Amino acid sequence: MRYLLRYCRTRASERCFIDMENNAIEKTNKYLAGTYARQNVAFVSGHGSYLVDDTGREYIDFGSGIAVNGLGLQNSEVNSAVCAQLNKISHTSNLYYNEPQGELGKLLCTKTGMSKVFLSNSGAEANECAIKAARKYSFDKYGEGRSEIIALKNSFHGRTVTTLSATGQESFHTYFMPFTEGFTFVEAGNFDALNEAASDKTCAVMLELVQGEGGVIALDGDYVNKVCKLCADKDILVVIDEVQTGNGRSGSLYAYMEYGISPDIVTTAKGLANGLPIGATLFNAKTSGVLTAGTHGSTFGGNLLSCAAAVATLKQIDQKLLDGVKAKHKLIVNTLSALPKVKSVTGMGLMLGIECDNNKEIVSKCLEKGLVVLTAKSKIRLLPALNIDDKTLQDGLNILKEVLQ
Ligand code: PLP
Repeated sequence: MRYLLRYCRTRASERCFIDMENNAIEKTNKYLAGTYARQNVAFVSGHGSYLVDDTGREYIDFGSGIAVNGLGLQNSEVNSAVCAQLNKISHTSNLYYNEPQGELGKLLCTKTGMSKVFLSNSGAEANECAIKAARKYSFDKYGEGRSEIIALKNSFHGRTVTTLSATGQESFHTYFMPFTEGFTFVEAGNFDALNEAASDKTCAVMLELVQGEGGVIALDGDYVNKVCKLCADKDILVVIDEVQTGNGRSGSLYAYMEYGISPDIVTTAKGLANGLPIGATLFNAKTSGVLTAGTHGSTFGGNLLSCAAAVATLKQIDQKLLDGVKAKHKLIVNTLSALPKVKSVTGMGLMLGIECDNNKEIVSKCLEKGLVVLTAKSKIRLLPALNIDDKTLQDGLNILKEVLQ
């Protein structure tokens, strides 16, 4: 067996033997489906806003596992809650009652004013549930034929066939036809186009308030409010996809709160359980009774470990944390928009898009210098932990500035 000796950059006294034929990168490339364009690094641990690779090198994390580790890695409250739950019971069927799901439902509803929650495992599942519920709401009230959903061009709602059908980006549609019927796409920000598309066949409008995968572009507030008013007048449901914007990332618990709107259905996932898989679909009073026994379900949905993690996560998203998100947003925007190579900085809270040339090259150069950043279309995307401390944020920004210059 061959071994490679790699130098430990953070702790020079330690040296690591990396098995060239049986390490994470080799095994992944050989045995896992090649669905991801992965960076050439294997992370083995982390703490707060730092990731550690298999040589012991530390990286500042401005990606949070794509908006998942919102409270950083090894968050002590989340870890304790998950370990305590693991030592009691990690799974039981949804045919029975359990405390973590009940507590999570209560927290989500009391913090949002929504009435009921369906728990699942991912963002795509949360959106599938929303689509089914929107169609059933209309079916129950108006009968067949009122099942169309208006979504926005450049949106992203997931990778299952139906959530891909709701996704307004052609690049995701190649190869997978035929799609689920009944989705119409209109230009984001063009109220007249949406008004024209809304017909007596429309049951819902589905929006990401900040189009994340589409390039971190926030929708205009007047536009969103006009859309909501139109929907209320026509009894068209407003479904807000907060899979990426949710759980404090926007500077409010949910981005819809920043817009001052009252959606009928809200979906969320990613940062809800700070690293454990979960999805949640929230229903307001109007839609709370739509899903009845047997109309939807999931074996793992509302897994007890994920729910315990989500309860511990939500309890930490308080006003102080949210104020910090807004302050850090300002600092990042002011720092980066002053750079000549930066054409614009877009987004909300700690969900930011930096328009510049050669974003992929910048990601690689940042990684070489010990900073993890992401892309969204042609932009650099930053999704740091909401509780990143000022020094780590500044150190990361210094690396990014150096690379961007
Ligand atoms: N909706 C939005 C807005 C997203 O950003 C994503 C993922 O990036 C999804 C849905 C799909 O979430 P998941 O990957 O958890 O299925």
